[in-house]
Amino acid sequence: MNLLDLAPDAVEATLAEVVSPAFRARQIEEWVQLRGVDSFDAMTNIPKETRAALAERFTLAQPEVLSRTEPAPDGSQKYLFKLADGNRIESVYMPMGDRTSICLSSQAGCAVGCTFCVTGFFGAGRNLTPAEILGQFFVIQREKQIPSEQMNVVFMGMGEPLLNYENLVTTLEVLYRQMAPRRITVSTSGIIPGIEELAKLERRPNLAISINAPDRKRREEIMPITAKYPLDELMAALRRFPLEKGRDITVEYVLLAGYNDSTQDAVALAKLIRGIHAKVNAIPFNEDANLPKWMKRPTDREIDRFVDTLVKNRVRVTVRRSKGRDIAAACGQLRGKEIAKSRATGGREMKSEG
Ligand code: SAH
Ligand code: SF4
Repeated sequence: MNLLDLAPDAVEATLAEVVSPAFRARQIEEWVQLRGVDSFDAMTNIPKETRAALAERFTLAQPEVLSRTEPAPDGSQKYLFKLADGNRIESVYMPMGDRTSICLSSQAGCAVGCTFCVTGFFGAGRNLTPAEILGQFFVIQREKQIPSEQMNVVFMGMGEPLLNYENLVTTLEVLYRQMAPRRITVSTSGIIPGIEELAKLERRPNLAISINAPDRKRREEIMPITAKYPLDELMAALRRFPLEKGRDITVEYVLLAGYNDSTQDAVALAKLIRGIHAKVNAIPFNEDANLPKWMKRPTDREIDRFVDTLVKNRVRVTVRRSKGRDIAAACGQLRGKEIAKSRATGGREMKSEG
């Protein structure tokens, strides 16, 4: 059993088999959940025999770094990890002045199948365990030595976090030990039952919704999940979602040239989200060889026009424009390249990808 899979309130009972004084259990818990160590030997205030006993029963395994991209001009860097079963996942490190965001994957693929997304293109993958999700976080935090007060986490990597709900919640509980819920953002394609479960939590992360189209018809074209969870019902769920003072729902909108980036589309989007405490995050489409040829990134002028129209319609909006943010916008591309290469060479290595 991996100790990093446990929710904070489960650690003590699990450790009771090995360590008796409660303070020892708490010390170990801190090493595991707060500092995220990946070996029992790192637990310097725990007696050697206890460490050996722990190592016999438990593991602290974290994903292995396969590669890192060169840092982008803004310092962002993408990590490719290998899991114990051979699956590959990606995470992104994004420094932003006195804040740093880490973008985590929640699944080793995605069954939702959005047509503009590389992860969706390669299809479903299994749920990641809490240890695999938290492991991405701790590996990067260790490498980059990020002070915890600067840390933000976004679930915008590979996969649909609300289709891995139980493990997401365990992960959140561990993360809350070192950061406030408002520093964490969960991005979803609009899994309504998951949004409703999140709404019931006492401590809720920020919610980001990938809307990506201003109407149901186009949303169904590029996000097949819309057939199951219709846009009007999704908007109703967002209107019900409880927000603390000062918090917003982030509406993500991937801009595809000539498809959803016209002035009329901006007006329609403004209308769609009226009445919701929302800010729009416009994401210029990230091109990739695996995605449909007609999908293009709009020019800067087109992006500006779309954004200006939103602003005129009293919508708060930010654009993800810099190089580094771009690589973050399309998690799955790095792994995509590896899979494509492996398929071309008939490689066996990636078999678990299906
Ligand atoms: N499954 C979740 C979280 C992961 S996707 C979700 O869909 O929200 C994170 C964000 O990346 C989403 O807003 C998605 O719309 C966006 N995205 C996916 N592929 C992209 C691409 N090729 N270019 C730009 N943004 C993309
Ligand atoms: Fe899955 Fe999100 Fe990609 Fe859609 S955009 S396929 S939900 S990861």
